Amino acid sequence: MSAIEETPAAANFIRNIIEEDIKNNKNQGKVQTRFPPEPNGYLHLGHIKSICLNFGMAEEFSGNCNLRFDDTNPEKEDVEYMDSIKEDVEWLGFHWRKLNHASDYFEKLFQYALQLIDQGDAYVDSQSPDEIKNNRGTLTEHGKNSPYRERKIEENRKLFLEMAEGKYPDGAMVLRAKIDMASPNINMRDPIIYRIRHAAHFHAGDKWKVYPMYDYTHCLSDMLEGITHSLCTLEFEDHRPLYDWVLDKLNTPCHPQQIEFARLNLEYTVLSKRRLIQLVKENFVRNWDDPRMPTVAGLRRRGIPAAALRKFCRQIGISKADGTIEMSYFENVIRDYLNQNSPRAMAVLSPLKVRITNFNDNLPRILKVANHPQNEAFGNREVSFSDSLYIEKEDFSENPPKKWKRLALGKSVRLRGSFVITCDECIKDENGEIIELKCRLDENTLGKNPEGYKPNGVIHWVDANTAVKAEIRKYSLLFNNPNPMAVEDFRETINPNSLEIIDGAFVEKSLADIFNTSEITTYQFERQGYFVNDKDGSSEKPVFNLTLGLKDSFGK
Ligand code: ATP
Ligand code: MG
Repeated sequence: MSAIEETPAAANFIRNIIEEDIKNNKNQGKVQTRFPPEPNGYLHLGHIKSICLNFGMAEEFSGNCNLRFDDTNPEKEDVEYMDSIKEDVEWLGFHWRKLNHASDYFEKLFQYALQLIDQGDAYVDSQSPDEIKNNRGTLTEHGKNSPYRERKIEENRKLFLEMAEGKYPDGAMVLRAKIDMASPNINMRDPIIYRIRHAAHFHAGDKWKVYPMYDYTHCLSDMLEGITHSLCTLEFEDHRPLYDWVLDKLNTPCHPQQIEFARLNLEYTVLSKRRLIQLVKENFVRNWDDPRMPTVAGLRRRGIPAAALRKFCRQIGISKADGTIEMSYFENVIRDYLNQNSPRAMAVLSPLKVRITNFNDNLPRILKVANHPQNEAFGNREVSFSDSLYIEKEDFSENPPKKWKRLALGKSVRLRGSFVITCDECIKDENGEIIELKCRLDENTLGKNPEGYKPNGVIHWVDANTAVKAEIRKYSLLFNNPNPMAVEDFRETINPNSLEIIDGAFVEKSLADIFNTSEITTYQFERQGYFVNDKDGSSEKPVFNLTLGLKDSFGK
């Protein structure tokens, strides 16, 4: 992978555990991990942390990582989500060894359930869903045993098989593990392991009328894949006893170790598939890949490179302590990456015409301009030049303040990569609006200042004859509140002005040409920020998204 992987990794207690396991030859020194999304939404930044961890640990210790769809819920899952997940993992730069579906294990899981029944470790409960809920107890109160808990093994077997044949309606009965209704851990109070659902499954078809529950499915899927380290987020800590119970009771040939780590939380961001679906369905954003979304698709469309996201994950490390990353931290990691890795180009967002009054045939029409000020490897590009230019409106002032570093009447500035110009006159329309500046260029100033000569500053520009009119989409934070989930309805914290569209910008020709290729490049528009070409644009009508501003704007 790219040089960015040289970023020193922050503390990661899971790495220490794996190192220790390898030293002790646990699992014959092998490392096999998996990333197990449920295909019920698009992946988001939180998943990126888990992907980088699972694939990263496998890579670091010469092991393998599987991509597994944890598709136990026929109602909420979809192929669209599955396809997007594959695309996103690949875009992030990772390669799975095997692509699996938990639903491919349904037959095996069913046989294991029969084994639990035969051992007296599972029973069919005919209580109603409400009764089951009410009898489960609370954090301070024991649960109550089901009146069906002591059913005979043969009866349990017969009923479970009939459930599977579709003989009973949804909710009529469930299969429960027989553990302990008095356990202080609610997950161990005879958890449901199978329920009846007369629903077709997007991957398994309409064969099944009973579906296994997540906790039961997850440990067995891990086991069937020979996972050595089953890495998951902290909310599963209380589920670990059940994970281990199932594998112990079935005396499986392999017993993966579940290790929990803190999930990623980021200021001004919602990281929950359920909430993100709401943002899309209720039209707060344009789609899943809207650049304001923290989805992988959104981050990609916003121009944040995969390598920058991997770098971010390496820098935040892995711990057991819950916390929230500051948005300025996230943005600074990305900004640093872009500063080093983005080619420069020029765009004028709010154009003001400049006429060069002494332009003549001896002057060059094409200038060579460096693509990166500190890195020659980026090379040069050709930028056209003529007597008619655009500069940024705000780079000229009729009444400049004292330390004005830009253009003013009688003042000189350097045009980036070009000549020094001096402003002689400003032309106004009948309303008093400035419509054009008349400037003179100094022929001796191309590329360098003659001795003793010092222009006022450097500004960006484009050649009005070749520049292409473009749409610029300026995005800002989607939420006003650093912790939208702390508010009762997170939608109340949505920033109504998170998208500003600038329609009359001009970009240099090379930026329009990128639309004739399939490339997606995040540029630094000189003095403006980082911008990426958007799929809605074309070489006739370029569209760019703002990725990030040039400077940290937090705390201001
Ligand atoms: P969501 O709450 O957004 O629905 P999830 O945890 O239900 O997420 P899964 O599809 O089950 O989504 O997640 C796949 C993997 O990604 C799991 O191992 C999960 O722990 C991990 N994951 C999800 N969100 C985060 C997060 N914010 N930080 C780190 N890992 C996460
Ligand atoms: Mg979930």
